[in-house]
Amino acid sequence: MVAAPRLEIDLDKIYHNAHELVTRLAERGISVTGVTKATLGSAEIASTLVRAGVNALGDSRIENIQAMCLSGKDVLMKDVSMTLIRTPMLSQVEQVVTYADMSFNTEIEVIKKLSVEAEKQGRIHQVLLMVELGDLREGIMPEDLIDTVRQVLSLPNICLKGIGANLACRSGASPDATNMGMLSELADRVEATFDVTLETVSGGNSANIQWALSDAGADTGRINNLRLGEAVLLGCETLHRRPINGLHTDAITLVAEVIESKCKPSLPSGELAQTAFGEAASVVDRGTVRQSILAIGIQDIDPVGLQAPEGIKILDSSSDHLIVESVNDDLFVGQETTFQISYSALLRAMTSPFVSKTFMH
Ligand SMILES: *Cc1c(COP(=O)(O)O)cnc(C)c1O
Repeated sequence: MVAAPRLEIDLDKIYHNAHELVTRLAERGISVTGVTKATLGSAEIASTLVRAGVNALGDSRIENIQAMCLSGKDVLMKDVSMTLIRTPMLSQVEQVVTYADMSFNTEIEVIKKLSVEAEKQGRIHQVLLMVELGDLREGIMPEDLIDTVRQVLSLPNICLKGIGANLACRSGASPDATNMGMLSELADRVEATFDVTLETVSGGNSANIQWALSDAGADTGRINNLRLGEAVLLGCETLHRRPINGLHTDAITLVAEVIESKCKPSLPSGELAQTAFGEAASVVDRGTVRQSILAIGIQDIDPVGLQAPEGIKILDSSSDHLIVESVNDDLFVGQETTFQISYSALLRAMTSPFVSKTFMH
Protein backbone atom coordinates (compact mmCIF):
# COMPACT_ATOMS: atom_id res chain seq x y z
CA MET A 1 0.00 0.00 0.00
CA VAL A 2 1.19 3.49 -0.82
CA ALA A 3 1.92 5.70 2.17
CA ALA A 4 -0.55 8.22 3.52
CA PRO A 5 -1.53 10.90 2.90
CA ARG A 6 -2.62 9.92 -0.58
CA LEU A 7 -5.23 10.71 -3.18
CA GLU A 8 -6.98 7.62 -4.48
CA ILE A 9 -7.93 8.36 -8.06
CA ASP A 10 -10.36 5.96 -9.69
CA LEU A 11 -9.74 6.34 -13.42
CA ASP A 12 -12.75 4.17 -14.33
CA LYS A 13 -15.06 6.53 -12.45
CA ILE A 14 -13.45 9.57 -14.10
CA TYR A 15 -13.84 7.86 -17.47
CA HIS A 16 -17.52 7.22 -16.72
CA ASN A 17 -18.15 10.84 -15.67
CA ALA A 18 -16.39 12.25 -18.73
CA HIS A 19 -18.07 9.83 -21.12
CA GLU A 20 -21.54 10.59 -19.68
CA LEU A 21 -21.05 14.35 -19.99
CA VAL A 22 -19.58 14.07 -23.50
CA THR A 23 -22.57 11.94 -24.57
CA ARG A 24 -25.28 14.06 -22.94
CA LEU A 25 -23.83 17.33 -24.22
CA ALA A 26 -23.32 15.94 -27.72
CA GLU A 27 -27.11 15.65 -27.91
CA ARG A 28 -27.18 19.42 -27.54
CA GLY A 29 -24.44 19.90 -30.12
CA ILE A 30 -21.89 20.77 -27.47
CA SER A 31 -18.34 19.38 -27.35
CA VAL A 32 -16.31 19.07 -24.16
CA THR A 33 -12.87 20.43 -23.40
CA GLY A 34 -11.53 18.46 -20.42
CA VAL A 35 -9.95 20.83 -17.90
CA THR A 36 -6.92 19.41 -16.11
CA LYS A 37 -5.74 22.35 -14.01
CA ALA A 38 -6.97 20.86 -10.70
CA THR A 39 -4.90 17.74 -11.38
CA LEU A 40 -1.55 19.50 -11.90
CA GLY A 41 -1.82 18.42 -15.54
CA SER A 42 -1.89 14.71 -14.69
CA ALA A 43 -1.14 12.77 -17.87
CA GLU A 44 -2.99 9.72 -16.46
CA ILE A 45 -6.18 11.70 -15.96
CA ALA A 46 -5.73 13.66 -19.19
CA SER A 47 -5.44 10.51 -21.30
CA THR A 48 -8.49 9.04 -19.53
CA LEU A 49 -10.46 12.14 -20.55
CA VAL A 50 -9.30 11.81 -24.14
CA ARG A 51 -10.30 8.13 -24.26
CA ALA A 52 -13.71 9.16 -22.89
CA GLY A 53 -14.24 11.47 -25.86
CA VAL A 54 -13.23 15.02 -24.97
CA ASN A 55 -12.00 16.74 -28.11
CA ALA A 56 -9.57 19.06 -26.36
CA LEU A 57 -7.70 19.45 -23.08
CA GLY A 58 -7.60 22.78 -21.30
CA ASP A 59 -5.29 23.98 -18.58
CA SER A 60 -4.58 27.42 -17.17
CA ARG A 61 -0.84 26.80 -16.70
CA ILE A 62 1.45 26.30 -19.67
CA GLU A 63 3.76 24.26 -17.41
CA ASN A 64 0.98 21.66 -17.03
CA ILE A 65 0.38 21.58 -20.79
CA GLN A 66 4.10 21.17 -21.39
CA ALA A 67 4.22 18.30 -18.88
CA MET A 68 1.30 16.57 -20.63
CA CYS A 69 2.94 17.02 -24.05
CA LEU A 70 6.21 15.58 -22.78
CA SER A 71 4.59 12.72 -20.84
CA GLY A 72 5.12 10.32 -23.71
CA LYS A 73 1.43 9.37 -23.79
CA ASP A 74 0.52 8.97 -27.44
CA VAL A 75 -3.09 10.15 -27.15
CA LEU A 76 -1.90 13.44 -25.72
CA MET A 77 0.48 14.04 -28.59
CA LYS A 78 -1.67 13.28 -31.58
CA ASP A 79 -5.38 13.08 -30.89
CA VAL A 80 -6.21 16.19 -28.97
CA SER A 81 -6.00 19.96 -29.10
CA MET A 82 -4.04 21.45 -26.19
CA THR A 83 -5.62 24.68 -25.00
CA LEU A 84 -4.26 27.28 -22.62
CA ILE A 85 -7.44 28.59 -20.97
CA ARG A 86 -5.83 31.55 -19.21
CA THR A 87 -4.54 34.49 -21.22
CA PRO A 88 -0.78 33.95 -21.73
CA MET A 89 1.83 35.89 -19.81
CA LEU A 90 3.93 37.99 -22.19
CA SER A 91 6.97 36.33 -20.63
CA GLN A 92 5.74 32.83 -21.63
CA VAL A 93 4.71 33.43 -25.24
CA GLU A 94 7.46 31.18 -26.61
CA GLN A 95 6.38 28.21 -24.47
CA VAL A 96 2.74 28.86 -25.33
CA VAL A 97 3.36 28.71 -29.08
CA THR A 98 5.53 25.61 -28.68
CA TYR A 99 3.18 23.52 -26.53
CA ALA A 100 -0.37 24.89 -26.90
CA ASP A 101 -2.38 24.56 -30.12
CA MET A 102 -4.74 27.26 -28.94
CA SER A 103 -4.87 29.91 -26.23
CA PHE A 104 -7.68 32.00 -24.75
CA ASN A 105 -6.93 35.70 -25.09
CA THR A 106 -8.18 39.11 -24.03
CA GLU A 107 -5.24 41.43 -24.80
CA ILE A 108 -4.23 42.41 -28.34
CA GLU A 109 -0.70 43.14 -27.10
CA VAL A 110 -0.33 39.47 -26.19
CA ILE A 111 -1.84 38.20 -29.45
CA LYS A 112 0.60 40.38 -31.41
CA LYS A 113 3.48 38.73 -29.57
CA LEU A 114 1.98 35.29 -30.18
CA SER A 115 1.87 36.18 -33.87
CA VAL A 116 5.55 37.18 -33.96
CA GLU A 117 6.55 34.03 -32.09
CA ALA A 118 4.37 31.77 -34.26
CA GLU A 119 6.00 33.24 -37.39
CA LYS A 120 9.41 32.59 -35.87
CA GLN A 121 8.50 28.96 -35.11
CA GLY A 122 6.75 28.44 -38.45
CA ARG A 123 3.50 27.53 -36.72
CA ILE A 124 -0.11 28.65 -36.77
CA HIS A 125 -1.39 29.53 -33.30
CA GLN A 126 -5.12 29.39 -32.71
CA VAL A 127 -6.79 32.08 -30.65
CA LEU A 128 -10.13 32.14 -28.86
CA LEU A 129 -11.25 35.55 -27.65
CA MET A 130 -12.88 35.65 -24.23
CA VAL A 131 -15.74 38.12 -23.74
CA GLU A 132 -16.78 39.70 -20.42
CA LEU A 133 -20.40 38.77 -19.68
CA GLY A 134 -20.82 39.89 -16.08
CA ASP A 135 -18.66 37.73 -13.81
CA LEU A 136 -15.92 40.38 -14.03
CA ARG A 137 -12.98 38.03 -14.34
CA GLU A 138 -11.36 37.76 -17.78
CA GLY A 139 -12.90 39.06 -20.97
CA ILE A 140 -12.98 41.75 -23.62
CA MET A 141 -15.86 44.18 -23.09
CA PRO A 142 -18.58 43.21 -25.64
CA GLU A 143 -18.52 46.65 -27.26
CA ASP A 144 -14.79 46.26 -27.98
CA LEU A 145 -15.04 42.79 -29.53
CA ILE A 146 -15.48 43.79 -33.18
CA ASP A 147 -12.49 46.12 -33.05
CA THR A 148 -10.33 43.42 -31.42
CA VAL A 149 -11.38 40.84 -34.01
CA ARG A 150 -10.42 43.26 -36.79
CA GLN A 151 -6.90 43.54 -35.37
CA VAL A 152 -6.58 39.78 -34.75
CA LEU A 153 -7.57 38.98 -38.33
CA SER A 154 -4.74 41.14 -39.64
CA LEU A 155 -2.05 39.21 -37.77
CA PRO A 156 0.05 36.60 -39.57
CA ASN A 157 0.21 33.01 -38.23
CA ILE A 158 -2.78 33.61 -35.96
CA CYS A 159 -6.04 31.78 -36.61
CA LEU A 160 -9.17 33.11 -34.93
CA LYS A 161 -10.91 29.94 -33.80
CA GLY A 162 -13.81 31.38 -31.88
CA ILE A 163 -15.11 33.30 -28.90
CA GLY A 164 -16.02 32.28 -25.39
CA ALA A 165 -17.01 33.39 -21.93
CA ASN A 166 -16.43 32.36 -18.34
CA LEU A 167 -19.02 32.82 -15.62
CA ALA A 168 -19.55 31.91 -11.96
CA CYS A 169 -15.87 32.01 -11.01
CA ARG A 170 -15.16 35.40 -9.45
CA SER A 171 -18.63 36.72 -8.70
CA GLY A 172 -20.89 33.70 -9.08
CA ALA A 173 -22.73 35.32 -12.01
CA SER A 174 -24.78 32.40 -13.39
CA PRO A 175 -25.10 31.35 -17.02
CA ASP A 176 -28.64 32.00 -18.26
CA ALA A 177 -30.63 32.57 -21.42
CA THR A 178 -29.69 36.26 -21.43
CA ASN A 179 -25.90 36.08 -21.19
CA MET A 180 -25.63 32.91 -23.30
CA GLY A 181 -27.94 34.53 -25.87
CA MET A 182 -25.62 37.52 -25.92
CA LEU A 183 -22.61 35.30 -26.62
CA SER A 184 -24.46 33.68 -29.53
CA GLU A 185 -25.44 37.09 -30.84
CA LEU A 186 -21.84 38.30 -30.63
CA ALA A 187 -20.72 35.27 -32.65
CA ASP A 188 -23.30 36.11 -35.32
CA ARG A 189 -22.22 39.76 -35.32
CA VAL A 190 -18.54 38.89 -35.79
CA GLU A 191 -19.39 36.62 -38.73
CA ALA A 192 -21.69 39.23 -40.26
CA THR A 193 -18.99 41.91 -40.01
CA PHE A 194 -16.04 39.90 -41.28
CA ASP A 195 -15.71 37.08 -43.76
CA VAL A 196 -15.00 34.46 -41.07
CA THR A 197 -16.59 31.43 -39.48
CA LEU A 198 -16.26 31.06 -35.74
CA GLU A 199 -15.77 27.34 -35.33
CA THR A 200 -15.97 27.36 -31.54
CA VAL A 201 -18.32 29.27 -29.28
CA SER A 202 -17.35 28.19 -25.79
CA GLY A 203 -20.09 28.99 -23.29
CA GLY A 204 -18.38 28.31 -20.00
CA ASN A 205 -17.45 25.77 -17.34
CA SER A 206 -19.12 23.29 -14.95
CA ALA A 207 -21.48 26.08 -13.88
CA ASN A 208 -23.10 25.81 -17.35
CA ILE A 209 -24.24 22.20 -16.90
CA GLN A 210 -27.73 23.01 -15.67
CA TRP A 211 -28.25 25.57 -18.40
CA ALA A 212 -27.04 23.15 -21.07
CA LEU A 213 -28.83 20.02 -19.89
CA SER A 214 -32.02 21.43 -18.39
CA ASP A 215 -35.13 19.34 -19.02
CA ALA A 216 -36.83 22.42 -20.38
CA GLY A 217 -34.56 22.01 -23.40
CA ALA A 218 -33.07 25.48 -23.26
CA ASP A 219 -32.02 26.88 -26.60
CA THR A 220 -28.25 26.56 -26.59
CA GLY A 221 -27.95 28.84 -29.61
CA ARG A 222 -24.48 29.08 -31.08
CA ILE A 223 -22.78 27.58 -28.00
CA ASN A 224 -21.01 24.41 -29.13
CA ASN A 225 -18.36 23.87 -26.46
CA LEU A 226 -18.02 23.78 -22.68
CA ARG A 227 -14.84 23.45 -20.65
CA LEU A 228 -15.37 21.04 -17.79
CA GLY A 229 -13.13 20.29 -14.83
CA GLU A 230 -15.04 19.90 -11.58
CA ALA A 231 -18.12 18.26 -13.14
CA VAL A 232 -15.94 15.50 -14.56
CA LEU A 233 -13.63 15.02 -11.59
CA LEU A 234 -16.11 15.42 -8.74
CA GLY A 235 -19.44 14.72 -10.45
CA CYS A 236 -21.20 17.93 -9.46
CA GLU A 237 -22.38 21.15 -11.02
CA THR A 238 -20.88 24.25 -9.46
CA LEU A 239 -23.68 26.78 -8.99
CA HIS A 240 -25.07 24.89 -5.97
CA ARG A 241 -22.58 21.99 -5.83
CA ARG A 242 -25.35 19.47 -6.45
CA PRO A 243 -24.40 15.99 -7.68
CA ILE A 244 -25.11 15.40 -11.35
CA ASN A 245 -27.47 12.46 -11.94
CA GLY A 246 -25.66 9.25 -12.80
CA LEU A 247 -22.16 10.58 -12.11
CA HIS A 248 -19.69 9.46 -9.45
CA THR A 249 -18.96 12.02 -6.73
CA ASP A 250 -16.23 9.87 -5.16
CA ALA A 251 -13.88 9.34 -8.11
CA ILE A 252 -11.12 11.00 -6.09
CA THR A 253 -10.82 10.62 -2.31
CA LEU A 254 -8.18 11.56 0.24
CA VAL A 255 -6.68 9.17 2.79
CA ALA A 256 -4.84 10.48 5.84
CA GLU A 257 -3.24 8.70 8.83
CA VAL A 258 -3.86 9.17 12.54
CA ILE A 259 -0.74 10.13 14.53
CA GLU A 260 -2.30 10.93 17.92
CA SER A 261 -5.49 9.82 19.62
CA LYS A 262 -6.42 10.95 23.12
CA CYS A 263 -9.25 12.10 25.35
CA LYS A 264 -8.77 15.83 25.91
CA PRO A 265 -10.80 18.71 27.27
CA SER A 266 -12.74 20.58 24.59
CA LEU A 267 -11.80 23.85 26.26
CA PRO A 268 -8.22 25.19 25.93
CA SER A 269 -6.55 26.59 29.01
CA GLY A 270 -4.48 29.73 29.53
CA GLU A 271 -5.10 33.17 28.13
CA LEU A 272 -6.20 32.86 24.49
CA ALA A 273 -4.46 34.93 21.82
CA GLN A 274 -4.09 34.27 18.07
CA THR A 275 -3.78 30.76 16.62
CA ALA A 276 -1.08 29.67 14.12
CA PHE A 277 -2.97 31.36 11.30
CA GLY A 278 -4.09 34.43 13.17
CA GLU A 279 -7.69 33.50 13.86
CA ALA A 280 -9.37 33.16 17.21
CA ALA A 281 -9.87 29.57 18.35
CA SER A 282 -13.39 28.24 18.58
CA VAL A 283 -14.10 27.71 22.27
CA VAL A 284 -17.19 25.90 23.47
CA ASP A 285 -17.00 23.67 26.53
CA ARG A 286 -18.31 20.24 25.64
CA GLY A 287 -16.47 18.44 28.41
CA THR A 288 -13.91 15.75 27.52
CA VAL A 289 -13.83 14.68 23.87
CA ARG A 290 -12.13 11.95 21.82
CA GLN A 291 -9.62 13.98 19.85
CA SER A 292 -7.32 12.69 17.14
CA ILE A 293 -4.70 14.24 14.90
CA LEU A 294 -4.20 13.26 11.28
CA ALA A 295 -0.89 13.90 9.52
CA ILE A 296 -2.04 16.37 6.89
CA GLY A 297 -2.51 20.13 7.00
CA ILE A 298 -3.14 23.41 5.29
CA GLN A 299 -0.03 22.89 3.16
CA ASP A 300 -1.70 19.88 1.54
CA ILE A 301 -5.43 20.53 1.58
CA ASP A 302 -8.10 23.13 2.06
CA PRO A 303 -9.53 21.91 5.40
CA VAL A 304 -12.90 23.53 4.67
CA GLY A 305 -13.11 21.30 1.59
CA LEU A 306 -12.87 18.00 3.44
CA GLN A 307 -15.89 15.92 4.28
CA ALA A 308 -15.19 13.43 7.06
CA PRO A 309 -16.81 10.00 7.30
CA GLU A 310 -19.83 9.49 9.60
CA GLY A 311 -18.99 9.87 13.26
CA ILE A 312 -15.95 12.08 12.71
CA LYS A 313 -15.99 15.84 12.93
CA ILE A 314 -13.20 18.12 11.71
CA LEU A 315 -12.38 20.61 14.46
CA ASP A 316 -9.37 22.63 13.37
CA SER A 317 -6.21 22.53 11.31
CA SER A 318 -2.74 24.00 11.13
CA SER A 319 0.09 23.65 8.57
CA ASP A 320 0.63 19.94 9.22
CA HIS A 321 -2.08 18.79 11.63
CA LEU A 322 -5.75 18.09 11.08
CA ILE A 323 -7.60 17.81 14.39
CA VAL A 324 -10.77 15.75 14.46
CA GLU A 325 -13.21 14.55 17.08
CA SER A 326 -14.74 11.11 16.91
CA VAL A 327 -18.22 10.71 18.29
CA ASN A 328 -18.36 6.97 18.93
CA ASP A 329 -15.18 4.92 18.65
CA ASP A 330 -11.65 6.11 19.23
CA LEU A 331 -9.49 6.33 16.18
CA PHE A 332 -6.23 4.46 16.74
CA VAL A 333 -2.71 5.57 15.92
CA GLY A 334 -1.82 4.38 12.43
CA GLN A 335 -5.48 4.19 11.35
CA GLU A 336 -6.30 5.53 7.90
CA THR A 337 -9.32 7.75 7.39
CA THR A 338 -10.90 8.51 4.02
CA PHE A 339 -12.34 11.93 3.19
CA GLN A 340 -14.48 13.24 0.35
CA ILE A 341 -12.90 16.37 -1.09
CA SER A 342 -13.93 19.64 -2.68
CA TYR A 343 -12.33 21.20 -5.75
CA SER A 344 -10.11 23.50 -3.66
CA ALA A 345 -8.94 20.59 -1.48
CA LEU A 346 -8.25 18.54 -4.62
CA LEU A 347 -6.32 21.39 -6.22
CA ARG A 348 -4.05 21.74 -3.21
CA ALA A 349 -3.62 17.99 -2.61
CA MET A 350 -2.63 17.40 -6.26
CA THR A 351 -0.08 20.19 -5.92
CA SER A 352 1.41 19.01 -2.61
CA PRO A 353 4.53 16.85 -2.99
CA PHE A 354 3.64 15.29 0.38
CA VAL A 355 0.45 13.70 -0.93
CA SER A 356 0.95 10.50 -3.00
CA LYS A 357 -1.30 9.96 -5.99
CA THR A 358 -2.54 6.42 -6.52
CA PHE A 359 -4.33 5.62 -9.74
CA MET A 360 -6.80 2.75 -9.62
CA HIS A 361 -8.62 0.92 -12.42
C1 LIG B 1 -11.03 26.51 -14.51
C2 LIG B 1 -11.66 26.93 -15.77
C3 LIG B 1 -12.63 26.11 -16.36
C4 LIG B 1 -13.12 24.83 -15.74
O1 LIG B 1 -13.90 25.12 -14.60
P1 LIG B 1 -14.68 23.97 -13.83
O2 LIG B 1 -15.55 24.71 -12.88
O3 LIG B 1 -13.67 23.12 -13.16
O4 LIG B 1 -15.46 23.21 -14.84
C5 LIG B 1 -13.15 26.52 -17.57
N1 LIG B 1 -12.76 27.67 -18.15
C6 LIG B 1 -11.83 28.48 -17.62
C7 LIG B 1 -11.45 29.72 -18.33
C8 LIG B 1 -11.27 28.13 -16.40
O5 LIG B 1 -10.34 28.95 -15.87
